[in-house]
Formats: sequence, C-alpha cells, structure tokens
Amino acid sequence: MKSQDFRTDNMSQIVARVHPDYRPVWESVPPCNQAALANFFLPRSSGTDFLCPTRPKVVKWYCPFAAQRQFGSGHRYCINVFVGCAHGCHYCYAVGYGPDRPVCKQDFRKLIERDMADLERFDVPPAPVHLSNSTDPFQPLEVVTGHTRYALEQILTHRHRFTTVTILTKNPLLPVQYKYLDLFSALAVLPNGHPRKRFYSETKLPAFQVEVSLAFWREEAGRAYDPMAPSVQERKDAILALRKADIPVVLRIDPLFPRSPMPNGTTLAHFGLPEAQTLEDLQSLVAFAAQCGVRHVVYSPVKIVQPRRRRLGATMAALRSVYQSMSAPIKPVWHGGSWRLPPEIANQHIIQPFLDICQKTGVKAKFCMTNLVETP
Ligand code: SF4
Repeated sequence: MKSQDFRTDNMSQIVARVHPDYRPVWESVPPCNQAALANFFLPRSSGTDFLCPTRPKVVKWYCPFAAQRQFGSGHRYCINVFVGCAHGCHYCYAVGYGPDRPVCKQDFRKLIERDMADLERFDVPPAPVHLSNSTDPFQPLEVVTGHTRYALEQILTHRHRFTTVTILTKNPLLPVQYKYLDLFSALAVLPNGHPRKRFYSETKLPAFQVEVSLAFWREEAGRAYDPMAPSVQERKDAILALRKADIPVVLRIDPLFPRSPMPNGTTLAHFGLPEAQTLEDLQSLVAFAAQCGVRHVVYSPVKIVQPRRRRLGATMAALRSVYQSMSAPIKPVWHGGSWRLPPEIANQHIIQPFLDICQKTGVKAKFCMTNLVETP
C-alpha cells in the first residue's frame, strides 16, 4: 500500500507524535510549514510512539546527536557527503560511529536528487545547510567522485530552499586547486525571490562560508594529532587564496588542548605526548586569523571520544590520563560518549587564556555550539 503524505488538517495530532526533543521546531512554525517539515523529515509508517526526523537519505536533520533544545533557530540540514574520513584525526568525534576507511554513499547522486525534489514537492521553508559534520567533503575521495561538487551544484539549483551554506574542511587547498571558487561565489548570491534575501542584505551576513579547521601552528604538532590531514602550510596557503577570492572564511582553532605546565606541575611530556598548542602557537594562529580577515574563530576544548567498536588509540588514551590528572581529585566528565574536563578546569586552563589572546588581538571568538546555532 502506498503511504500517504501528512496533511495540514491533522497536524496537531502529528506534532504531538514528534519526539519531544524535536517538537519545539515544529511548534515554532505555522501549520503549513509543520506539514512541510513532517512530510520531508518524518517516516510515514513507524511502530514507535514518537516520530524522529529519520526520513531523508542525504539531506538530513542536523544533528541527531546534539541536544535539540539548543536548536531554537529551527531546523537545519547536514549533508555528509561521504561515510568516514581519510584525515584520521586522533581526536575526531566521528570515529565513535564511522567506518575505519572512508567510503562513498551508494547512489549518492540519485538520493540527493530525490531529497531535493522532495524539498520542492513539500515546499519546505529554507534553512541552513552544513557540509559536513562527520566527514571531510574535500578529502581525497572528492577528487575521484566529485560528489561534493555535485551536492553544491544541487544546492545552487535549489538555492531558495537553503539559507547559509557552510562548508567545513581541513583540506581547503582542494577546492582552490580544482576550481570550485566560481561555484562558491555563485552560492553566495541569493536569487531574487529568495524568502531571506532582504535579511541577508540588511544584516550583511554571508550566505556562503568556508570553515577551515586549523588547530596547530607547528607542523610537528599537526603530524602528532591529525597525522593524515593536509599540512599546516597547505591550509594556511589555501586560506589566503580563499580570502583573496573574497570567500568568507571562519577559522576553527578547534579543538583546544591542555598545555604544559598543567595545574599540578606535570607536562604533556610526562604522559608521552608532544605539546599541541603552546601559548605562542595560539598567538600565531589568532594573529594569522586577524591578518586574513576571517569572520571569527571557533573553539572548544578537546573531547576524548570512546570509539564504539575498538579501544582508545595510544594518543587519546594518554590524553585521557592527562584529563584524569588535571581533574583530580574528581573525575573527568563522561557525557555523550566522550570524556571532558570539568567545565571550571577547562575554562581556567584551556579556554580563558585563548579568549584573552583573541581579545588582545581584536579577533571575535565563538564557542562551537554558539557558532552553529547562530548561523542563520
Ligand atoms: S577531518 Fe574532521 S571528520 Fe575527518 S578525521 Fe578529522 S575531525 Fe574527523
């Protein structure tokens, strides 16, 4: 039997079945948009009491793992172009659930076309889209598949269904070398009739931006913590090229690591770890951000993610010991599948010194979740 689309006239019953975590988004919009969101995001037949936004295959709800009450700004999309990531950062939170090696999504082009057609069919109101939160859209697979380029072309074709388009990458040299910049510039322009065109014109906020992750200043630190990602120099060169082409860039000095000496006098070397970010490194990174004219920098303290199907690697196991030592006599906080420093310790020893540098340099800094929810 063919499943029926949700209708506007019984929306109150449907909204009552939306999982309480997601319901505030539905409750914040009028019934016609509730029906559009329900038709795009919710499964038609589900035996569970509550409905979650699991329906789209590629243009997915961002982000099912985050606390949804923080998404008061409404629905937003994430397109994870690939599954897994070649960069192999030791601190990657996606290692908790991703495969060991990056792979393409089967029928990716067909699936994204279908999701885009559904956005049109159900007349879904525009929302921000992020590529990608658990893979790098410009990892080497992109050179052979062109899936990220195809996704961006689809977004451009359906530009009125999206507000800000954000790309997050550690490999910004790839789009510079392979001539993606014209596509980036085209995505920055909202077409006439776009429902938010006036908002962007009045606020002067960019409708397209590239977030580049560059947490280290010295190459040896990069090689120790994100060993297979592009070099620090390559990322710096690419950021300069993006800015020269007038592409808005956000610099993610993220994550932030503990520094020696730590509160109890120990050093990272005591735990067999190289220094990740000295204060001088952070000063150099923030000065580079200022020199390039990035929109702002983004930060968050490193989380130690416990992979689902394997043990912690040596680097993160050592970092967990650092966290235990810094937190003593209490324990690191276990939350959402990862260990974190107790907030007051993270603030005092990791975050505040970084914010002081940003303030002195005149660079705006945003905590990662704030950066996400404030992207319109
Ligand atoms: S680039 Fe991002 S997704 Fe890829 S391994 Fe590093 S942190 Fe994970």
